[in-house]
Amino acid sequence: MEIEKDKKYEIIVFPNQDEGLKAQRILISRGEDFKHISTLAVAIPEQRRQAVCRSIIDGNTLISGYYPFLYRDYEEDFFKRAEAYRADNANGVFLKTITLCYVAPCMADEKKIRLIAYFNRDITEILPYLNAVIKGASYNKGASTLTFAKERRLINLYNLKITIAKADDIIDAWHILDEVKALINKTHERKTDIAPSYDEKIKVTALQIYGWLPKTNCRACGEATCLAFAVKFLLGEQDLLNCKPLLEEARFAENKKIMQEMAEALGI
Ligand code: SF4
Repeated sequence: MEIEKDKKYEIIVFPNQDEGLKAQRILISRGEDFKHISTLAVAIPEQRRQAVCRSIIDGNTLISGYYPFLYRDYEEDFFKRAEAYRADNANGVFLKTITLCYVAPCMADEKKIRLIAYFNRDITEILPYLNAVIKGASYNKGASTLTFAKERRLINLYNLKITIAKADDIIDAWHILDEVKALINKTHERKTDIAPSYDEKIKVTALQIYGWLPKTNCRACGEATCLAFAVKFLLGEQDLLNCKPLLEEARFAENKKIMQEMAEALGI
């Protein structure tokens, strides 16, 4: 593939040469248009990113990151970003890395993905400041969580991790993780200019969760009552998948949808 001026591309980066070569073999066998940059990286047309990533991941090959670029600023921008990354690591920036650890289809919409990624440090101290700067965020001081929406995506920040629900695909998720990291670092830098907010705008209680459960106390989930399930669900100790009546019985279809949305919003 020839790189054309002013067209958008993504560079996909691989963790080592074995993975890079494996990925390039997959792309060749599938007739994908790509440009070999090195054994560790390929460029693909931006609009093919979802299909290409899926082919690579389906071929049991690891991807370590991506880099969006326009040909005209390719070299300059590439080195600028590499330099910024090195500087972040050397200059004691607040949050250095977010590591993606779990990806699965969304429960409410299988075409979207949900994921869990971990911070390299505890961000509890910054949550009240983020609560002050993110419009519509919902802060829970007791649990040290902050929930907010970015367009259709639901984002939950904990002390050491972030969950995202309803991301379009893995690249979309990486973009969000980059944006969240930049927001956390910028907020930390401006901490002295921001009045922290401890307002808890929305608080979901166990009784509200109980209201959306079947309330039959059937024990199929292993709990003695639906209320016990609700309490454990809020603590992240029970999985919605364990409430079979809610998931399988047509009469609970509406409640199932609400609970799935709730689980995603809460990052459970
Ligand atoms: S499986 Fe569902 S309906 Fe049955 S006790 Fe547990 S929460 Fe209640």
